[in-house]
Amino acid sequence: MQYDIIIGMEIHAQLKTKSKMFCSCANDGEDKKPNTTICEVCVGHPGTLPVINKQAVEWTILTGMAVGCEIADFTKFDRKNYFYPDLPKGYQIAQYDLPISLNGHLNINDKKIKIIRIHLEEDTGKLLHPKNANYSLVDYNRAGTPLMELVTAPDLSSAEDAKNFCQEYQKILRYLNVSDANMEKGQMRCEANISLQEKGKWKKSNGEIKPLNNYKLNPKIELKNINSFKAMERAVNYEIKRQTKVLNEGGKLIQETRGWDDNKGQTYHQREKESAHDYRYFPEPDLPPLILTELKEKLRKKLPELPQTKKERFITEYGFNKIDANFIVVDKNLADYIEKVISEFRAWIETSDKSKKTQDEIWETHRKKIIRLISNWLINKLGGLIKTKNGDISKIKITPKNFAEFLALIFQNKINAASGVKILEIMLKQGKDPSDILDSGDFEQIQNKSALNQIIEKIISDNPKIVEQYKNGKVSVIQFLIGQAMKETKGKANPVIVKEMLIKLLIS
Ligand code: ZN
Ligand code: MN
Repeated sequence: MQYDIIIGMEIHAQLKTKSKMFCSCANDGEDKKPNTTICEVCVGHPGTLPVINKQAVEWTILTGMAVGCEIADFTKFDRKNYFYPDLPKGYQIAQYDLPISLNGHLNINDKKIKIIRIHLEEDTGKLLHPKNANYSLVDYNRAGTPLMELVTAPDLSSAEDAKNFCQEYQKILRYLNVSDANMEKGQMRCEANISLQEKGKWKKSNGEIKPLNNYKLNPKIELKNINSFKAMERAVNYEIKRQTKVLNEGGKLIQETRGWDDNKGQTYHQREKESAHDYRYFPEPDLPPLILTELKEKLRKKLPELPQTKKERFITEYGFNKIDANFIVVDKNLADYIEKVISEFRAWIETSDKSKKTQDEIWETHRKKIIRLISNWLINKLGGLIKTKNGDISKIKITPKNFAEFLALIFQNKINAASGVKILEIMLKQGKDPSDILDSGDFEQIQNKSALNQIIEKIISDNPKIVEQYKNGKVSVIQFLIGQAMKETKGKANPVIVKEMLIKLLIS
């Protein structure tokens, strides 16, 4: 039997505010000693009162705007009641029927994925279960961390969709600088709700799956404990296979929450899912409702350029190809760095080009070559060097100005690729100006034809057999002779010039 795969996502992201959601405790307890960033409010002592963190509200509004949500004029907090030792109050302050953001969307793989809501709540503490002990420990440092929850409609239909959605959302959170959104650290927790339904027997209405005729819907299964994009893809694929098998064998699926075991590559039963009425939601009596009308208008002006728009701009304005543009916009710092390099390079080329063209014409004349150089040198070579050092573009010692100067040296054929890599490595280590490095080392290409001529004549007389082969029509052997010349000059010769000179001598 063929089934339609129906996936919806729930993503919790920790906001990196200075203080917690409802008290003034520092919001950096992650690596601190257990129970040191807590107070009476975040551990729920009787008689204490919460206060709303304005920054967290603003960031939830901004995130909502970034994904095209309508921002509520009126919003409130509610109590979600359940008992678990990591929840000191016995309820979580969350938002139920009047969330901050509603009805947005994100485009993933050319599909419009509806975002039902984004609301604000507080994180719980953490339980620790020491090995071989008959007790558990609880660390409340995380209790009260602002948590923003996004819920999508069941508009995704593959593991790839699910992964791409999480990646796109992570980019947005990082662009807005509201969350570090590191999945491995639990700063962004993605859950997928998956169900399989027989083709043609269901329809979607108002973001919900409804059966047609007498069809009985298969339950949706919630996947948790996913802490990387890779795990997200694997877990969803595993679950699709598992559910298909159960259904094809005539078995029954139950509505449940399943965890993901990354080592075994399997999902496993955690618990049967509660439905909303079990939580006995009611308005939080200790917090005032919020009127956001003025605040949201002020914030709309602060919305930065977002990854998908930036990607389009890098393609149309500069001419990067799609693969490079995708790579660049993953990291806002990288995108900013590249734009600075381009603007420095542009300034340089506009003053060094002595033709009577306008500045725009000069740029247009050289744009393709420059973008190709950036793609080759900044994305591939420098990107590779940074990656092997586990680095981050915003922390490297090479300023955009120095990088542009480096590109200018390559652009003018003052250094060849081999010297370029060496200079780049020195720049990365010492943060020096490329021209200074060039002056101090002997990287400058041997352009001087009489010096090169001597070397090339020697190579020709040292390799009579190769020369013979070339003259008999096996022209590819010239590569060997070029290699010899590069070796002789320790990589300082310009291979293009060497080739020209070799051909001239060989055919004379
Ligand atoms: Zn506190
Ligand atoms: Mn939640």
